[in-house]
Amino acid sequence: MPATPSTLLRLFSRGVRQHAPGPLRSSLRATSVSKSDVAPAGDITSTPIPEITDAFPGLHTHEHIHQFSLDHPEEFWGQLARSRLEWQREFKTVTAHEPEKAIFRWFPDGQLNVSVNCVDRHARHDPDRVALLWEKDEPGQQEAITYRELKDEVCRLANVLRASGVGKGDRVALYLPVSPLAVASMLACARIGAVHSVVFAGFSAEALASRIQDAGAETVITTDQAVRGGKVIQLKQVVDAAVVKCPSVKRVFVGSRTGSQMKMGPKDIALEKALSCEGTECEPAVQDAEDLLFLLYTSGSTGSPKGVAHTTAGYLLYAATTHKHVFDYRDGDVFGCVADVGWITGHSYVVYGPLANGATTVLFESTPTYPNPGRYWETVARLGITHFYCAPTALRLLLRYEDDWVKRYDRSTLRVLGSVGEPLNHEAWHWFNDLVGEKRCTLVDTWWQTETGGIMISPRPSAPSAPVLPALPMRPMFGVKPVLCDPNGGVVEGMGVDGALCVGSVWPGIARTIYGDHKRYIDTYFSPYKGHYFSGDGAHRDQDGYYHITGRMDDVINVTGHRLGTAEVEDAMMEHPDVAEVAVVGFPHEVKGEGVFAFMILKDHTHESTEEIKNDLKKLVRSKIAGYAVPETFLVCPGLPKTRSGKIMRRILRKVAANKPGELGDISTLADPSIVQSIIEAYNNEKR
Ligand code: AMP
Repeated sequence: MPATPSTLLRLFSRGVRQHAPGPLRSSLRATSVSKSDVAPAGDITSTPIPEITDAFPGLHTHEHIHQFSLDHPEEFWGQLARSRLEWQREFKTVTAHEPEKAIFRWFPDGQLNVSVNCVDRHARHDPDRVALLWEKDEPGQQEAITYRELKDEVCRLANVLRASGVGKGDRVALYLPVSPLAVASMLACARIGAVHSVVFAGFSAEALASRIQDAGAETVITTDQAVRGGKVIQLKQVVDAAVVKCPSVKRVFVGSRTGSQMKMGPKDIALEKALSCEGTECEPAVQDAEDLLFLLYTSGSTGSPKGVAHTTAGYLLYAATTHKHVFDYRDGDVFGCVADVGWITGHSYVVYGPLANGATTVLFESTPTYPNPGRYWETVARLGITHFYCAPTALRLLLRYEDDWVKRYDRSTLRVLGSVGEPLNHEAWHWFNDLVGEKRCTLVDTWWQTETGGIMISPRPSAPSAPVLPALPMRPMFGVKPVLCDPNGGVVEGMGVDGALCVGSVWPGIARTIYGDHKRYIDTYFSPYKGHYFSGDGAHRDQDGYYHITGRMDDVINVTGHRLGTAEVEDAMMEHPDVAEVAVVGFPHEVKGEGVFAFMILKDHTHESTEEIKNDLKKLVRSKIAGYAVPETFLVCPGLPKTRSGKIMRRILRKVAANKPGELGDISTLADPSIVQSIIEAYNNEKR
């Protein structure tokens, strides 16, 4: 076996190499393509799409192309799939959907390997191009990994997995820091046809265990520790606690992030050692276009998170196309999406979209305020970032600090700014656009979901000079037909209207099922509004036809851009022996977007004081779900507002939590309307 040192080994070993601080930009620029590939004047859409406009010369405007993508999805996506992806066997059929069963198939007779598309083909043509720029927790310690190095590491890791018995279709749970190892692990799974399930490394042992069990994963990849915001997080310990509850797990690969000494159990395998025994060639598995690529668990309105399942070719095509056309990605750009790889944004716009397009993509391991609130912009200056994509909650946090934290850093490389995960309010939009982007960057507020695989509504693509308005995602992506529905399932036509946000077209990135529960997939997304995919969000279509997102319509709240089912929090709280009943709702929060508010009824004879119970509950929620799920407020009340059939009327609780007792609306259908006044009194007493 070759004995060359592994890049991952080098990156993860103790006392990681210190890079000389200073602009990395110049070295990256050397491989950059000059500004000459700027869209030619007069192009009809914001980023040229020659495969379509050359093949169909009758399309004269962006709107024509968009309409064409809806009317002729087979031609539109077929052309792009042929020219933008590398196939093991080219497809003959573009779609074979069975809408009545909610079965969607794209390129069903085609075969391709995602890792080849994301790594090998770029390593072949431009091996020294930087694929990953790992911005580690400590500023000034970035590491650059070229496409050649990434290919070698993906192959080594794929060989390690194969040698230990992981095969096609097997699920592999990843519990990792934002790091080259995380990317290599995802791609190594793709290389051998295994299905990865990345679990955000902030989730508790219990949450990790339930995801491992639901997926039936036999293999876990983790590291000794993680470092974030200067703090050490004990990843291996969390995995140990989870694995005890998961009989399916046969092996745990433990990489080294900090080099800390770990207690290794019988299932644990030191990853670096295993990597050092493997070579850098690994035959990619032949993958059908509809083979599973990954599962990603997300919260729904019932207790258990659902394993959203994405498949191979359609997902990759959609991630790559949206990455190119929403962000106007051009060769040589340095794409900075600061999401964690544990969320869909990290999957589609840190890993798959950028790598499929041969981009240099940033892996941001730190936090927006470490070691100070200038961190993002100092990173932009040092790495020469051209695109900065983040969540509104981070912007709302940063805009509270002095403008100088932004202004002191050179941001002249920035060309496109993006936001995702929750509504981008006007104040944050202007701060981002005017201060950070100096009013010269394009700012895209992008609406999409774990289930959609990629961006669905965004100001770009559009006609090249079409306006970008503050604080709304505006326009549908190619292939996407937004539909607004009324409560009876009818389609709401016209402008200046509201409705449930649905999609009336089938796009290649749509999740194919909920792992192990296709019925839940149908019930959640396709039963509420027949013939349409229902997003769970509400939306407004304004007089100009632009879309505004009005928020979730189900019992899901969005805390710091992370989806959280109220039922999950309620289930965790109900485990406390002194809690009789509980109802959790979201309320508007200045920084987090939404905060968690828990109304609870305690049992008659409690064992502990109310303060002790609240502290227990915080610990309970943290240990069962994650830190972000812990309620801001626990309000003990004498009862909950219920209908005569016993259903809790949450809209009333939402108004109380938002301190809007004057907007309760009709409460006459409650079994006991007087309970509302006692809840308001309890709230007022608590406030005092
Ligand atoms: P997730 O699947 O975790 O990415 O969460 C998706 C949810 O986040 C959506 O259903 C929306 O409620 C919310 N969301 C995502 N992007 C936006 C946006 N640009 N504006 C408003 N809400 C958004």
